Amino acid sequence: MKQLVILGGGYGGIKVLTGLLGLALPDDVEIIVIDKNPYHSYKTEFHTLVAGTAAEIDLRASFPLHDQVRYEFGEVRKIDHEKSEIYFRNRSTVITYDYLVIGLGCEDAYHGIEGAETFTESVQSFSKARHTAYSVGNLSAYGKVSVVGAGLSGIEAASEIRESRPDLNIRLLDRGGSVLRAFDPKIQAHVSDWFIKNDVEVLHHANVEYVEKDGVCNNGICYVNDVTIWTAGVQPHKIIRELPFEKDQYQKVIVNDYFQVPSHPNIYVIGDNASSFHSPSGQLAGQQGEQVAVILEDVLEGREPKKPKEIRLRGTLGSLGKSDGFGSVFSQSLTGLLPRITKSGVLWLQKRH
Ligand SMILES: Cc1cc2nc3c(=O)[nH]c(=O)nc-3n(C[C@H](O)[C@H](O)[C@H](O)COP(=O)(O)OP(=O)(O)OC[C@H]3O[C@@H](n4cnc5c(N)ncnc54)[C@H](O)[C@@H]3O)c2cc1C
Repeated sequence: MKQLVILGGGYGGIKVLTGLLGLALPDDVEIIVIDKNPYHSYKTEFHTLVAGTAAEIDLRASFPLHDQVRYEFGEVRKIDHEKSEIYFRNRSTVITYDYLVIGLGCEDAYHGIEGAETFTESVQSFSKARHTAYSVGNLSAYGKVSVVGAGLSGIEAASEIRESRPDLNIRLLDRGGSVLRAFDPKIQAHVSDWFIKNDVEVLHHANVEYVEKDGVCNNGICYVNDVTIWTAGVQPHKIIRELPFEKDQYQKVIVNDYFQVPSHPNIYVIGDNASSFHSPSGQLAGQQGEQVAVILEDVLEGREPKKPKEIRLRGTLGSLGKSDGFGSVFSQSLTGLLPRITKSGVLWLQKRH
């Protein structure tokens, strides 16, 4: 049997798996899916877990069962790309592979800021988001929360917490002169207005110098607060950073047109860890996963794979609580209820599939 290992059953990995199961999977192939969690996670909704507006069960999906698929649930520690072996933390099991797809997602980047890793909460993994949810949920009345970073996840986290807890003092630290720098000014203005109307303090031109247990020091002023949530940047997974493959300036693996590592074409890298012209997103990871499934079908049958089509993304949608939102869809800027309903519809479709 040929062993195909899918490492990480997130937005990219699940699409490789379901794509292959929907195609003609050769009989002599066993797929081994490895994930630290025994379920697929809807990471794009982790801000709702953090704010207490969604239950855990709403953010999980079962992995599909199939005779040729085996699951190994546990936290991977290391990939030995020379021996084609995968090692776990706290488990002696060693998994070997003939083909490997890496979809491990990203981790927070702290940019060397003192105290940031130790004293901030995170939205980047299920267990970390769960921890953040406890910290926010246990705050006494009028507690103080700072969210560092005003990109998509920071905006969604701050607004969702505001709707969940009107009593809290919420501050959003934005590195730029306007929130959501990558978006259209119409969207930036809508989001800024929402924060003003909903009493979230936004500090622009933030430059966090250090973080302490009880506060954030920014541009020479220390703000005392109870919970600091870090949404100020991500980096590839540690396992990826440790692999000696060629990387881009963001430490992402440079892959060829088939998402293969050029020096090790039996290894595929997708999602947040693969160098791409596009910004990282669940949508990008999913499309790459679908393409890798088609490529692997050919490779597993011994055929030359066809070069995949250029990836076309449909746009980005963001939420401001449950009844307002924003989005850039097919180059159209949308604000208000419509993009919010569309975002819920996209999630509903994802869950259905
Ligand atoms: C709050 C928030 C909101 C977001 N909103 C959006 C949005 O609206 N639209 C959008 O497109 N993107 C959004 N994103 C980004 C999106 O979630 C990621 O880009 C996407 O999940 C990347 O997919 P991936 O397959 O690379 O990794 P992931 O989906 O993160 O999957 C990684 C998988 O690897 C597993 N794993 C990790 N480490 C280990 C290990 N050591 N051992 C075993 N398993 C491991 C994880 O459990 C997980 O299942 C958001 C992100 C956040 C945090």
